Amino acid sequence: MKLKNILSPALAALLALSLVSCGREAAPTVTESETGTKIVWESLPETETETDTETETETETETEAETETETEQAVDVPPAPDPDLWETVTPQPDPTPYIPTGDGTAPLVLMYHLVQDEVTGSAENLFVRPSELRGHIEALIEKGYTFIFADEFGYSDQKTVIMTFDDGYLDNYTEMFPIIKEYNVKVTVFMISDWIDCPDFMTSDMIREMSSSGLVSFQSHTANHYTLTSLGDDQLKEQFSRSKTRIESLTGRPVTALSYPGGFYNANTIEIAKDYYDFAYTTHSSNTTAGYSVYELPRIRVLRGMSKASMAYILP
Ligand SMILES: [Zn+2]
Repeated sequence: MKLKNILSPALAALLALSLVSCGREAAPTVTESETGTKIVWESLPETETETDTETETETETETEAETETETEQAVDVPPAPDPDLWETVTPQPDPTPYIPTGDGTAPLVLMYHLVQDEVTGSAENLFVRPSELRGHIEALIEKGYTFIFADEFGYSDQKTVIMTFDDGYLDNYTEMFPIIKEYNVKVTVFMISDWIDCPDFMTSDMIREMSSSGLVSFQSHTANHYTLTSLGDDQLKEQFSRSKTRIESLTGRPVTALSYPGGFYNANTIEIAKDYYDFAYTTHSSNTTAGYSVYELPRIRVLRGMSKASMAYILP
């Protein structure tokens, strides 16, 4: 039920059992490192980890598996899943400059993950308190923002904001949904489609209910949250098409926006994504999306402890 079940090594075996019904083949092990707790899928190659570029330091963690399984990876082995929950990275590359057509103001985009008072595991920053979320919404309303969905991205004569929640955690239903109903504002959940109905993630019924409310748009965070830059073209197409199809069939609404898992993407990722999606969101940080490609849209990473006053302060 709680995320500590995922993050506790003692319960890794239990997790492995629960994952069988969630479409995973290999048993994970949980490791601790400077960059946080991370689940590693045995028999699958580990991917490299970069520290936040803003810290001006760069370290790379390479495992033996990375070199030893290079040929295997070229054949048909996907990399280990790398959920945001275990990341502290802001990956490459720099966004491509983009000159928008048309007039108006570009949307502001906010990136959330979990909405809980209680913190489980080591990724404390990702657990925004419900009271803090209320404050952020109030600040946005008081500043005159209109709330739009991620698949409604576009320049407008109004100030617009896109609130996004990555991964699709259960608390998005139990904690976030009642709050946005109270304020009657729209948000977007980037759902990992294979994790629907899995422990700690939202169920099909919850997703249908939220989508039907008209306040929540469910868009794609791929099927398995693999690091996209490690996948071959066929695997990319499969991740994009399968997640899009599953979510569309659940909600009956189009899925035209993507959030890159962990923020990892490259030129090839974008080229293939263009066949499935109209917009793609990154983990680059900027308080404006003006001047960015619609396939490299930046988001403000909202972290635990951010007050209403802090949100009001950074809002253009
Ligand atoms: Zn994610």
